[in-house]
Amino acid sequence: MFDGREAIRKLALNIARYTGLAPLAKPFVGGVGAILMLHRVTATPEKPNGVNRHLNIAPEFLDAVIADMKASGYAFVTLNEAIERIKAGGKDGQFATITADDAYRDNMTEALPVLEKHGAPITIYVAPGLINGAADLWWDVIEDLVNARDRLTLMTSSGPAMIDCSTPAKKLQANARLHAYLTLEVREEDQRIVLRELARANGIDLEAPRPSTLMNWDEIRSIAAHPLVTIGAHTVNHRNLKRLSETDARHEIGDAKRILQAELGEEPHHLAYPYGYATAVGGREVGFARDAGYASAVTTRHGLLHAEHSGFLHALPRISVNGRYQNVAYIRTMLSGVTTPLANAGKMVVTI
Ligand SMILES: [Zn+2]
Repeated sequence: MFDGREAIRKLALNIARYTGLAPLAKPFVGGVGAILMLHRVTATPEKPNGVNRHLNIAPEFLDAVIADMKASGYAFVTLNEAIERIKAGGKDGQFATITADDAYRDNMTEALPVLEKHGAPITIYVAPGLINGAADLWWDVIEDLVNARDRLTLMTSSGPAMIDCSTPAKKLQANARLHAYLTLEVREEDQRIVLRELARANGIDLEAPRPSTLMNWDEIRSIAAHPLVTIGAHTVNHRNLKRLSETDARHEIGDAKRILQAELGEEPHHLAYPYGYATAVGGREVGFARDAGYASAVTTRHGLLHAEHSGFLHALPRISVNGRYQNVAYIRTMLSGVTTPLANAGKMVVTI
């Protein structure tokens, strides 16, 4: 999951304005390739009007994006090959590789048929804690809490606070408030227990089994055997690594490798940092990923791949293909490179 809301909003404002410039810009700012980032791919989202709807795209849109990119000369390759091509400076032509975070079940049921049609490989980043139920898809849980109640009581350091959830506008505000509370005020290590207490205090039973939108281990083992699929690591518990101690952050990165090896029989070589934005991954975390022996690591920073990234294989930017931009023209604009400096304070080669 990611939420680079501010940068994304700015990008959305500028993207329409720059769409017309994109073909002109390409020779100057276009990279050697791109890593596309997906989360959910479904034609029938459970909450089509929910606050997390931007995490989803329709399978038809994925199909259209791949077809359009192929028509303009992109080769769809595995992540391993993408790394080799970065190291070679992109001399083998423009390439793209597809990634998906969190291991949503629809990656298997709805995205994979589209990928098979195009022979396009995908890397799916799995956080074992989310699969085992040791970690929560908390952004989904707070959406459900806010939807279920007209008001919520939040225990803060200065006492209980009432959060109004009585109207759609108030629900949006409540979601933003709880998002900030869980990611900024509560210690990362306490997030789960605080979320559970919040649910309990408001009469919602999180201990009851919830229908999971993520794949289970059997499904992951089955998709891992598919020739187009690579499994990567998404840390153990999907925590914001920057908010953890060095010991805990190293465990999150390193243990994910060992757990996935034990579950799947094969060690993952690639990592995606949870959230992936600047307040969740910096130079320290990039060093931990390198030390843990991963061949590459991706962020959610917006950018294309350049030959210079051969020196920054553990801080690779991606192009988010998400519900906010379900328009092939927007993806073309992003692939032109024109939006990269807009989202990154003028930088063309984005690392962290
Ligand atoms: Zn994630």
